[in-house]
Amino acid sequence: MNYYSDAITDLIDEFSHLPGIGAKSAQKLAFHVINMPEDQVKKLADTILSAKKNIHYCKECCTLTDQEICPICASSKRDHSTIMVVENTRDLAAYEKTGKYNGVYHVLHGAISPMLGIGPNDIRLKELMERLQKDVKELILATNSNLEGETTAMYISKLVKPTGIKVSKIASGVPVGGDLEYIDEVTLLRALEGRTEI
Ligand code: ZN
Repeated sequence: MNYYSDAITDLIDEFSHLPGIGAKSAQKLAFHVINMPEDQVKKLADTILSAKKNIHYCKECCTLTDQEICPICASSKRDHSTIMVVENTRDLAAYEKTGKYNGVYHVLHGAISPMLGIGPNDIRLKELMERLQKDVKELILATNSNLEGETTAMYISKLVKPTGIKVSKIASGVPVGGDLEYIDEVTLLRALEGRTEI
């Protein structure tokens, strides 16, 4: 039995498709939006649309940006010969928050997962290999410490080793299976400083 009108059910349904939103939260969000003043709802909808329209991958590092080249890649103050490989833009943000990393990044947008059918061609690996043609001294692998992250790190290190570029991996101070974005800055910094060559 449908307790709500179709419009409300549709809204609840849309929210329930978002990650981490269960049936209860979806209902809560839907009713919250319905009770919001119309101009605020419009602002929210416009912001979502504008983000979707204007945000794309940085031509260099593949992070999400509204410019052609993201501010990190565009900065002459950053060390462009050190590239840290992360799985997503949220991980990049976590390292940026420490304020102690001066190199640049490469965002893979995922990790290799044979179980989910995600192969090397499904992440931004080709773009990384192209970047390595330039003057790169060190590649820091900072993928997550779960199975997919480890598989990806191993795959990349095997691929890059023959080029002679130094490949290092962040220390295992990052809890196993822990998403990088949830780890505090001190732990991240320790993981970065304690990185070892592989
Ligand atoms: Zn960039």
